[in-house]
Amino acid sequence: MELLDKLTILADAAKYDVACTSSGVNRAAVNGKLGSTTSAGICHTFSADGRCITLLKVLMSNACSYDCTYCVNRRSNDVPRATFTPRELAELTIGFYRRNYIEGLFLSSGVLRNPDYTTEQMCEAIRLLRDDYGFNGYIHAKAIPGTSEQLLTRLGVLVDRMSLNIELPSETSLRLLAPDKSGQSVLAPMRFVRDGIKENIQDKTTSIVKRARFAPAGQSTQMIVGASPESDFQILNLSASLYRTLELKRVFFSAYLPVNTDPLLPLVTKAPLLREHRLYQADWLMRFYHFDVNEIIDESNPFLDPLIDPKCNWALNHIDLFPAEINRVPYEMLLRIPGIGVKGAGRIVKARRERSLRFEDLKRLNVSTKRARYFITCNGSFAEGVLFDPASIYDNLADEARSRHCKGVLDGQLSLFEESAPVGLMSASAADSSAQRRELVPWIN
Ligand code: SF4
Repeated sequence: MELLDKLTILADAAKYDVACTSSGVNRAAVNGKLGSTTSAGICHTFSADGRCITLLKVLMSNACSYDCTYCVNRRSNDVPRATFTPRELAELTIGFYRRNYIEGLFLSSGVLRNPDYTTEQMCEAIRLLRDDYGFNGYIHAKAIPGTSEQLLTRLGVLVDRMSLNIELPSETSLRLLAPDKSGQSVLAPMRFVRDGIKENIQDKTTSIVKRARFAPAGQSTQMIVGASPESDFQILNLSASLYRTLELKRVFFSAYLPVNTDPLLPLVTKAPLLREHRLYQADWLMRFYHFDVNEIIDESNPFLDPLIDPKCNWALNHIDLFPAEINRVPYEMLLRIPGIGVKGAGRIVKARRERSLRFEDLKRLNVSTKRARYFITCNGSFAEGVLFDPASIYDNLADEARSRHCKGVLDGQLSLFEESAPVGLMSASAADSSAQRRELVPWIN
């Protein structure tokens, strides 16, 4: 098989992996302009200084020996199969890098023969890149559940970030839909990677690993949403537990995309992208705004509201804390006002030292009051036309969402960056030790 054919198959097969920030848009090439977002194979991640890095996103092989019900690459599917040799993959990556198409590599794989064999192939490709071609750029590798610790160590010191897909939000669903995997086969390597990152191990046993730190950019995971019956309450509790116990950098949610028909899978035609988006918003609140999972969702209402974002939902559920007087409330409370992020809160705090702020001043400070106006006063007055009544606020916010929906906005991937994250504000997430939550995530705790 020609290398280009392999690349076409293996880049396309990698599009279901979301453990890096891909564009989430679908825009075809335009005559006279450079680039398109439709073809698989390129995705992005962000460096510590906020720079966007373009990655070649590809599988080592899609000739998978496992049979996960939801996956296009499962062994029982009749799809074109391809496998790179380590040398092919290394040459391809360095070739793209030299042409300035990419700055790094995101490498995943189906299970070729078994987890250890697959990982050996991945390690060899990356070793060639690092040692023979001198590639010092960003590499994110997806480890295979069930890989031995020795090979995880080898992989970990070659790459910047490692991830292992937890796949589904409960062990019951994992057993049902991914029968070749188990909670243990996923969690044991995740714990090993966590410990490796903590210790920044220097494995003295092989010459390959003497020079590198173990996965210095940390560990992440991916969870499919909507292929199994777990609620948002369960998913967010599991995420909180993963952040706490395994010290993950990110939990990525992947809206279930119906690519197979199987009686074990839900009968849906579209990926639940809005649900995925709400989960990311909730995750954002937990990671950067110091919200405890219990503040965002509870078991009696186990799904996030599709019409209003989780911060608005929290504010409406705590309406007794509002209206917030913009000239007086502390910085921490400013951050809890829907629509106000860290940059806006910082500008408000700085400006109000000089003078008392009015709604016009907020506009001048570039603080969006689209949602905030329902929850704030300036010098004791509400914004014009605002009726401070929870039902009316909900209706207004929901109407805005519906009108966005009519314009097609809610049909696709939404922006994750409506609000900025408060850098340095958050300490460790609140302790999450209730028996109820342990029961929900027994295979994590
Ligand atoms: S292990 Fe499962 S999810 Fe991964 S490629 Fe194979 S069938 Fe797909």
